[in-house]
Amino acid sequence: MEEFLKKYNTSEEGLSSNEVTKRQNQNGLNELKEKKKKSAVMLFLEQFIDVLIALLIVAAIAAYFVGDVIDSCVILIAVLLNTVIGFIQEYRSEKAIEMLKSVTTSYAVVKRDGQVQKIDAKELTIGDIVILEEGDKIPADLVLIETNRLKVDESNLTGESVPVEKSPKEEAYMDSNVTLGNGVGIVTAIGMDTSIGKIAEVIQEEKGETPLQKKMDKLGKTLSVIAIIVCVFIFIFELFRGIPIVGTFLTAVSLAVAAIPEGLPAVLTLTLALGMQQLTKSNAIVRRLLSVETLGSCTVICSDKTGTLTENKMTVRDAFFYNENKSLEINALCNNSTIRDGKTIGDPTDGAVLKYSQDNNYFKEDLQEKFPRVDEIPLDSSRKMMTTIHENGEKYLVLTKGAPEIIIGKCKHIDNNGSVEILDDSVKETLTEKINEMSDNALRVLGIAYKNTENIGDNVENDLIFTGLVGIIDPPKENVDKSIAACKKAGIKVRMITGDHLKTAASIAREIGILTDGKVIDGETLDKLSDEEYFEMVDDIQVYARVKPEQKMRIVETLKQKGEIVSMTGDGVNDAPALKNASIGVAMGSGTDVAKESGDMIIQDDNFETIVTAIREGRKIYDNIKRFVKFQVSTNVGAILTIVGTSIFMLPVPFNPVQLLWINIVMDGPPAQTLGMEGSERNIMTRQPETGDILNKKVLIKIFIAGLVMAIGSIALFSYKLAIGASQKQAMTVAFTLFVMYQLFNAYNSKSNSAKKSTYLYLAIIACFILQVLIVYIPELQIIFRTTSIGLTDWILIFIIAATILVSNRIANKIVVE
Ligand code: ADP
Ligand code: MG
Repeated sequence: MEEFLKKYNTSEEGLSSNEVTKRQNQNGLNELKEKKKKSAVMLFLEQFIDVLIALLIVAAIAAYFVGDVIDSCVILIAVLLNTVIGFIQEYRSEKAIEMLKSVTTSYAVVKRDGQVQKIDAKELTIGDIVILEEGDKIPADLVLIETNRLKVDESNLTGESVPVEKSPKEEAYMDSNVTLGNGVGIVTAIGMDTSIGKIAEVIQEEKGETPLQKKMDKLGKTLSVIAIIVCVFIFIFELFRGIPIVGTFLTAVSLAVAAIPEGLPAVLTLTLALGMQQLTKSNAIVRRLLSVETLGSCTVICSDKTGTLTENKMTVRDAFFYNENKSLEINALCNNSTIRDGKTIGDPTDGAVLKYSQDNNYFKEDLQEKFPRVDEIPLDSSRKMMTTIHENGEKYLVLTKGAPEIIIGKCKHIDNNGSVEILDDSVKETLTEKINEMSDNALRVLGIAYKNTENIGDNVENDLIFTGLVGIIDPPKENVDKSIAACKKAGIKVRMITGDHLKTAASIAREIGILTDGKVIDGETLDKLSDEEYFEMVDDIQVYARVKPEQKMRIVETLKQKGEIVSMTGDGVNDAPALKNASIGVAMGSGTDVAKESGDMIIQDDNFETIVTAIREGRKIYDNIKRFVKFQVSTNVGAILTIVGTSIFMLPVPFNPVQLLWINIVMDGPPAQTLGMEGSERNIMTRQPETGDILNKKVLIKIFIAGLVMAIGSIALFSYKLAIGASQKQAMTVAFTLFVMYQLFNAYNSKSNSAKKSTYLYLAIIACFILQVLIVYIPELQIIFRTTSIGLTDWILIFIIAATILVSNRIANKIVVE
């Protein structure tokens, strides 16, 4: 390997910090430059690329040419206002999503100045010595100098999904994933000079629409078609009544603007994006907008035990040795953790047994000098054991520890203080008793074994000699029992899925409230169940023990078949498929890069409580989306029905173009946005999860009722005013004001029943009201909006009629229970 060290001017100790700074200044940072972002100006200009806006502009030009300068200007101002609102919403969404990217930094483990350290992958430079572990994302282009069963998934470079085996001197490419084994490499290229960098432009984040966004789109299209038919109809109708073509065109276009929920997607995206940002503050990084939507409907949480429900702070509590010396030696040697300044680094289970050996004066460094390690068969969550092979003079020493029943299965003898005896049934009985005793006390039990051998072929892990058991305690996290109780209240089931022993798992699950009246099952039993059998009993199983990651997939699938919205946690490479398939894949912050990339959400602190917090936040966002959707679409429906109604009764159109545009701004602007920011309902975590569409039939019925009430009131008041001899201008002003008041009352209808005050919503409502009063009374605004002052009786009528929507909403909520 000397040649590579020399070629990249580095050493086994790694680069020195001075050298790193020098090279970084020379070569820049290890970053893939993203495609250029849309500039704010572009984003603003894009708002104009919209059929409705284009139509409005045409209308403005037409108005100008027939000498209607005021209308022309006002329409242009409305266009501008609309685009500004749209721009602000999109800009804020983009910023929120961008911020998220900066939170998800990737790390690399390097050796510099002889020290192993974890650094931001951006900081890597040429010549750095990088250490790769299973599940890591390769942080730069490397030439490998050491490999141990290393397999790399290069599918995002080559499209080939079968992992490639790598040996020293071969290259490993940035952004591919280590699926097995480990290795060491020297950085040969960084950033845009890497293989992936050269094709980086091709692989930008895919930006799909969420189901909700799609559904909104569909609803928008349906309403648009209806609106367009109505508009064309009105257009023809008005022409027949002899109203000039340009004026009619203006009315038709403005009506379309008020009747089409074109502002809805923007508010939706903004609400989801701000929700993502909020979640990040509570340690839950949501990787896709979609997950914000789904989170609120989660019905089952399948959670890992170790580290998520428990502290992952392991301590040896109990032991049972046939040969204590040998056991303590094995624990120290067959071990990948280190203790530095009293702190353990590496796998916590390894750390616990290493500490135990050290406390009994068995030191890893001393032992390792005596028996140098030559190979390792790493721990993996399917095998549940690890083995190291050491030189012992001319021979080899094979040391193994792992799940006790698996280890015992591989042993034919025991080492009883130096004398090797047969592992017979009576020994087995003693051991089973000991294992049960320890695991009933919630201890994680490891079995320990070894053998001396001359050749280390395929069967190294067979025919071992058993030496003892250790029992390790891993206490539950504080408050985890409270979070689980909170889930139960919220109608969310919690399942424990663990690689640990059945009794250990059951004992902890019972302690924290997961295991109550349900079943405990182990992976082996699960495999024996037919799909039908498993489907039948899946609801009853509360704890899955000795599970292999591959089985998580079946659990997810079956729960989904039962109609559940499943959140599944995971951290390893093998968890990736289950994470991808779950409704919400939850990756642990401490997990592998592969798991993080497969998950929808990353829990930074590995804490179960954070999942629950995220679900609560998701429910709030779900509620808020429902609020503004109901509000906005009701206005659309109300506008359509009003116009259709007046035509049926052969009345003039009650709103003029400028008024319609104002209605549209009230609808898409502050009231809708502030509805997206409401606090959480008081019963947010005491009600059952809501799993259906946001836009279900019941919601649509309520929207229709609200629209109908608005239309009936507006038409009634309008025709009443005309009947008692008011001028058309006055009748229109009253109808227009009533329609705006309807919107404000309806916004109030949608407010939350929350401990948090709806301050923003109230401010938005009051501001709109004040503006409406100004529009009615300020002479300059009267000219623009073609309004006229109205009297106290009119206001009283307006308030009384507008308030009917408060009553009708109550009644609708009583009759149509969601
Ligand atoms: P969990 O699902 O609780 O995280 P793990 O997959 O970490 O469980 O562990 C499963 C089993 O693998 C453990 O019960 C233990 O028997 C074995 N095991 C875990 N860590 C080690 C280790 N460092 N060395 C040997 N065996 C281990
Ligand atoms: Mg684990």
